[in-house]
Amino acid sequence: MNRVRLLVFNPVLNVLDYRVPDGMATPLGALVVAPLGPRQVLGIVWEPDQLEGEAVADSRLRPLLEVLPVPPIPAPLRRLIEWTADYYCAPLNAVARMMLGPMAALRGGGTATEYRLTGVEPARLTPQRAAALDALQGEQASIRELAELASVSDGVLRGMVSAGMLEAVTVDLDRPYPRANPKHAAPDLSDEQAAAADTFVAAVRDGGFQPFLLDGVTGSGKTECYFEAVAEALNTGKQVLVLLPEIALTENFLRRFEARFGVPPVLWHSGLKQSERRRAWRAIVAGQAQVVVGARSALFLPYARLGLIVVDEAHEVSFKQDDGVRYNARDVAVIRARFEGIPVILASATPALESLQLAESGVYRKIDLPSRFGGAELPDIQIVDLRSEAPERGHWLSPRLVRELKLRLERGEQSLLFLNRRGYAPLTLCRHCGYRFQCPNCTAWLVEHRLSRRLACHHCGHEVPVPDACPECHTPDCLVACGPGVERIADEVAEIMPDARVAIVTSDTLNTPEKIGEFVAAAEEKLIDVIVGTQLVTKGYHFPELTLVGVVDADLGLEGGDLRAAERTYQQVAQVAGRAGRGEKPGEVLIQTRHPEATVIAALAAGDRDAFYAAEAEARRDAGAPPFGRWAAIIVSSEDEAEARDAARAIGGTRPNLPDVMILGPAPAPLSLLRGRYRYRLLINARRSAQLQDVIRQWLGGLKFPPGVRVGVDIDPYSF
Ligand code: ADP
Ligand code: ZN
Repeated sequence: MNRVRLLVFNPVLNVLDYRVPDGMATPLGALVVAPLGPRQVLGIVWEPDQLEGEAVADSRLRPLLEVLPVPPIPAPLRRLIEWTADYYCAPLNAVARMMLGPMAALRGGGTATEYRLTGVEPARLTPQRAAALDALQGEQASIRELAELASVSDGVLRGMVSAGMLEAVTVDLDRPYPRANPKHAAPDLSDEQAAAADTFVAAVRDGGFQPFLLDGVTGSGKTECYFEAVAEALNTGKQVLVLLPEIALTENFLRRFEARFGVPPVLWHSGLKQSERRRAWRAIVAGQAQVVVGARSALFLPYARLGLIVVDEAHEVSFKQDDGVRYNARDVAVIRARFEGIPVILASATPALESLQLAESGVYRKIDLPSRFGGAELPDIQIVDLRSEAPERGHWLSPRLVRELKLRLERGEQSLLFLNRRGYAPLTLCRHCGYRFQCPNCTAWLVEHRLSRRLACHHCGHEVPVPDACPECHTPDCLVACGPGVERIADEVAEIMPDARVAIVTSDTLNTPEKIGEFVAAAEEKLIDVIVGTQLVTKGYHFPELTLVGVVDADLGLEGGDLRAAERTYQQVAQVAGRAGRGEKPGEVLIQTRHPEATVIAALAAGDRDAFYAAEAEARRDAGAPPFGRWAAIIVSSEDEAEARDAARAIGGTRPNLPDVMILGPAPAPLSLLRGRYRYRLLINARRSAQLQDVIRQWLGGLKFPPGVRVGVDIDPYSF
């Protein structure tokens, strides 16, 4: 009898055996539908010896129902899924889920039905229909998505379909994406760039696993270099995956891509609508999507002919996923390249210490671009010691920074003020009774957003309107804002330079590709004098007239329990400094700090990157931190505080006693309440050689917890 072992997508079960009906072809990697109790499950045909599970007797096997009409998942991707599950101590099927497209895409069906307004407008409208009419102008999507857009129920929209106000449109999901042209607009590369590009092109042509660290200062033209490798992949009919840290940044990237190759790339991110996801997924598995640009979730897709992976801004924290499967897309990208036997390029101006270490030890091949393209100078960086050059009371810009800002305005040049804090003020309290606005779901203050007149939690999204009176003592008009956010800095700029045109750039203000596009256009046309922004402005943008960067508070990132606090501060400040002086005019950077003596600040001021990395390596070596030692965290959470604490204690009580493994905790996690769940944490520190994952698996494997308790393992965590 013909039998198969499946990796199944079920919350409890991972592995099940089935009988293959006569005449059904079930190659390894095939996606199939199988019966499970009264229901059906989706599964992937897997190598039986790779999946642990007891073999069921032939006589008890149920037959598979159906093989889905999509190509089988190739072996390198199956190996990647196993590796990821093993390394990050995550369930296999949770990892495998990340490669699946929308169910509808798997089910075949090359069309989707979407709806759009017809222009029919009855004279009398219910308020909901009127609202939908307003919100859905120019939109086309599924009923569900339109309902979400318009904040009405599906039923309202179905009613509008019946009333002839909305019409169905059939979307062809198999219409091909336009072909990119590798020769559309090839730039003249500098000698430095050409040398780097040649190396990448050869690697793509020859194939084989080769990891590169493209280490080039801001403005050195890294993108143009790896675009040559992309062009080579296009020439040879291979697919390319470009991972970018935040999809909000792609607008700028897309324009450059289109300028170079004549067409936009295929996008993959959480903001896509269903039909776009389905279309992209089908084109990716069919090999028709040539270049896919995506957030980290694009990493696990089943590309038909992957020939190159690029991870741009590879040091970025957002490559680390912190819920569900906790993995680092930068690291997994390298592993994927290894299994696929292809080159991978990690590009950064400020690589993670881990990446530099791997380059130093010869695992990665390091390609340097030490100078800016076109001979632009790196900006001059100066420190403003806030202790001796204090801003006026209730203000955050020092006299020197104010002087420089005014000078730029006079000269018609642009300035950028960087503060990594959205909103107006990070804490609001009552002047009268001291009441502080706190999130009911998280251990966090509510952040005042004056533009939207709301108090918001930046962790769970909880929002309330700013009240007129204190909710505790009911005194009217008693609320005071404590500390600055970008909105408040923008107010301060308006106060000192009433004529300046100020733009606030955060994920709140630039929340659509259109708005990002408008901002970029306005900045390029010099319709903006001062940009006030969060880390959203630190990367990618290239404004030739920008000659001053002010870092409002360089100490901000150094607080808190973050293993990589110093490195992140270095990266952020170096990146934002890199926005200055990219054109013909030289740039200047002022860093406001209360700790000018801190290693990271001193290194920034001296422009001495090596000094920073050397000191950071030293500190990490002393602490047994990565890349010299290993960290892992076990995070226990529940909606019930006692339950979470008890479970954490139970784990702590069975801790293994090993010579090269140190276990700390349990203790409340830094965000001890997050999205309504109480969190406890154990930290594990081990030597590099320790089999950390095996230790954790054995330790947790025997324990049972109440259903409300979640136990998550975070290997190589970013923040604790
Ligand atoms: P990085 O990513 O290293 O900071 P970019 O790739 O953004 O640098 O390049 C900086 C600027 O220089 C961009 O505006 C880019 O278009 C321009 N540039 C880089 N290389 C070339 C080239 N060979 N020819 C023309 N312009 C280039
Ligand atoms: Zn919250």
